[in-house]
Amino acid sequence: MSDETDPGDGRPLRVAVIGAGPAGIYTAEALTRRAPVPVTVDLLDRLPTPFGLVRHGIAPDHPKMRAIRDTLHRALDDPGVRFVGNVEVGTDITLDDLRAHVDAVVYTYGAALDRPLSIDGEDLPGSLAATDLVAWYCGHPDADRARVEASLEGVRRAVVVGVGNVALDVARVLARAPQELEPTDMPQHVLDALAAAPVEEVTVLGRRGPAQASFTTMELRELDGLEQATVLVDPADLELSPAAEERIAGDRNATRNLAVLREWTGHRPEPDRVRLHLRFHRRPVRLLGADRVTGVEVERTTVDDEGRAVGTGEYEVLPADLVVRSVGYRGQGLPGLPVDQRSGTVPNEDGRVLRDGAPSAGEYVAGWIKRGPTGVVGTNKHDARETVASLLADAEAGVIRPSGDRDDLVQTLRARGAEPVLLEDWRAIDAAEVALGATRGRARTTLHERESLLSAVRAAAGR
Ligand SMILES: Cc1cc2nc3c(=O)[nH]c(=O)nc-3n(C[C@H](O)[C@H](O)[C@H](O)COP(=O)(O)OP(=O)(O)OC[C@H]3O[C@@H](n4cnc5c(N)ncnc54)[C@H](O)[C@@H]3O)c2cc1C
Repeated sequence: MSDETDPGDGRPLRVAVIGAGPAGIYTAEALTRRAPVPVTVDLLDRLPTPFGLVRHGIAPDHPKMRAIRDTLHRALDDPGVRFVGNVEVGTDITLDDLRAHVDAVVYTYGAALDRPLSIDGEDLPGSLAATDLVAWYCGHPDADRARVEASLEGVRRAVVVGVGNVALDVARVLARAPQELEPTDMPQHVLDALAAAPVEEVTVLGRRGPAQASFTTMELRELDGLEQATVLVDPADLELSPAAEERIAGDRNATRNLAVLREWTGHRPEPDRVRLHLRFHRRPVRLLGADRVTGVEVERTTVDDEGRAVGTGEYEVLPADLVVRSVGYRGQGLPGLPVDQRSGTVPNEDGRVLRDGAPSAGEYVAGWIKRGPTGVVGTNKHDARETVASLLADAEAGVIRPSGDRDDLVQTLRARGAEPVLLEDWRAIDAAEVALGATRGRARTTLHERESLLSAVRAAAGR
């Protein structure tokens, strides 16, 4: 270790981590537990709550998966980590001002934008991005409640475009019986709107074949256990070209998926049960409807040897009053931090941010905004460790160092009129959610409005 990494001025290395989702929390954890020098972390989030997509993405009917927040919470309890919620970098504080307060920044602000289908009719009422629907059912304060609830009103037939796990989450939530969702932490208005939607049919639509579907077998299999839905698969959709046979043989997930799908080809629609179709080889070309969506025009496809969908020129219309596109997420830049438009990620080398192709001293990136929207929560742990290793190597090499005393970030934010939410404040929100849930016999109910989140903080602080 060189002398330069030893905080000779008596203070530790200060790092700001932007985004308190899994990547940000794992970054904070690695920085405080693995660094050979003292490090303090300010973990900022634009929301008053931590956990990112663990709170506002992972499906509420998957409580075991959502319980990973308990593990993540341990890192927040570390005295070297300060959670600073309700502060949006780029709005409440500029990147330049933030960088002036700390020795290094790590961007972990995720990839929250949906990818569009870019087809006619996509903006009609009744057409939603999975990001809209997921944000709404998870109680994200920025969810467009009016648009989502108007789109759900009277819905009998829904089409979900995409064959990843998020598409299956959406299909499952739409097809579930109200009593299955009742114990979850979904806000009450969400439970009410879903219970009122008279859904009879949900179709999950893949542009290519089952060999290219990215959902995992566990998520797929779960569809067959829903109380009021029957999964339906057309055997013709499972016929494979020799190239697809070869691809499947080398891919355990695809092999298992295909075996499950084949088991289901014998299912028949049953009265008073939701028909949950899984259909492949159809790509949407247009959403139909004048005032709202009435259907999806699709083109039949085959898959070429490179695994690409190729149109056959045969078209059909699937009637639908709700279409949810779930074809991926992408990241955006922060003011002062560009992203690669094509990949939607911040250019980087082992987590070191590249500006004009060269590493920018003191700037790092981890999580979805580093590598794109792939992997499970745990993938972000390895990813964060790689980034932290780069940061600590730069500290050791003297590229970053503790340089003089600086004002406290939280005081600066307050002086600017921001209302930072700290760990104790988050605990007050947590307690308020548990108390709200208890009024209906649930473990927790998510507070979905920024004002109610902040009211819980103010009430606990006697403000
Ligand atoms: C719908 C959905 C369901 C999923 N289900 C599962 C699952 O069941 N199991 C599983 O393992 N994985 C699941 N995942 C994947 C998992 O959620 C991600 O791998 C993980 O959340 C990515 O972590 P991240 O920290 O990079 O981004 P995020 O979790 O998105 O966290 C980014 C954080 O940055 C904050 N932020 C954004 N902009 C700013 C700003 N300007 N200033 C300050 N803060 C900002 C956001 O508020 C957010 O809290 C799911 C993902 C989605 C989208």
